[in-house]
Amino acid sequence: MNELPPLRDVIASHGLGAKKAFGQHFLFDLNLTAKIARLAGDLDGLVAVEIGPGPGGLTRALLATQADHVIAIEKDPRFLPVLLEAGTHYGDRLTLIEADALDADEHALTAGKPAIIASNLPYNVGTPLLIKWLKASPVWWQAAVLMFQREVADRVVARAGDKAYGRLAVLTAAAATARIGLKVPARAFTPPPKVESAVVVLHPLPAGKRFPDIAALEVITESAFGQRRKMLRSSLSAAAAKAGTTAEALLSEAGIEPTARAETIPPDGFFRLAAAWRRANG
Ligand code: SAM
Repeated sequence: MNELPPLRDVIASHGLGAKKAFGQHFLFDLNLTAKIARLAGDLDGLVAVEIGPGPGGLTRALLATQADHVIAIEKDPRFLPVLLEAGTHYGDRLTLIEADALDADEHALTAGKPAIIASNLPYNVGTPLLIKWLKASPVWWQAAVLMFQREVADRVVARAGDKAYGRLAVLTAAAATARIGLKVPARAFTPPPKVESAVVVLHPLPAGKRFPDIAALEVITESAFGQRRKMLRSSLSAAAAKAGTTAEALLSEAGIEPTARAETIPPDGFFRLAAAWRRANG
């Protein structure tokens, strides 16, 4: 089989300049993309769902694993011809979907087969995509390796008391474990972004350990961390009123001091608050 041309040449010969509006920063180093793919674990027999394949650096790495199939969802149609070429090279195991990943129904696309998610995420949609996957029901993915800008990665994996601890860490803890798998310097990308990046490795929690009402948790954490310097009895008052109750009543039901501040409360405290808010909300 002929070798695929280097990604830099592919970009040049197809005139595929990076578009800022699509958050395009490409990875050309195939050792690095192989390392990212490995963070997802053994892919033997699994489907790998890739968001934003672009010219295909990570796609090639995923196709080179034992994964049964790779489903790549890309919004920018300019990349489809070069991705098709890579798909053919690796034995027709690639399905390309031209779509906005925010609208994609991955559960339907993977047809109930065990799947992982891999992505060098477009920075502008990284957080909403993560929240979409945390909310997914049924949970169609069994691991995710996601490149975020470093500051967002720190917010995903933060613990109570950390500077980066906030809404994103609590929402993540409700549905998954998360750790930083790899730090990636800006110079690894073309063009280099202004910030450093990191790959976060996530695994969904088993059903009995999840806090399933992420919608209620979003309401509570938005209020609590929206005014993070305030005491919870004050920052939660508007959200409580919307549910026809008071912040003091919610905090008492959750066993949390009314004078506590959001940044000191571990995720399970927010789960209890969200459950109390849901009960009040009817
Ligand atoms: N995976 C490639 C790599 O590592 O070189 C490209 C990564 S680049 C940071 C992000 C990619 O996501 C781009 O190809 C961009 O066109 C695509 N993209 C941006 N927004 C998207 C969306 N909403 N849905 C699907 N793809 C999107």
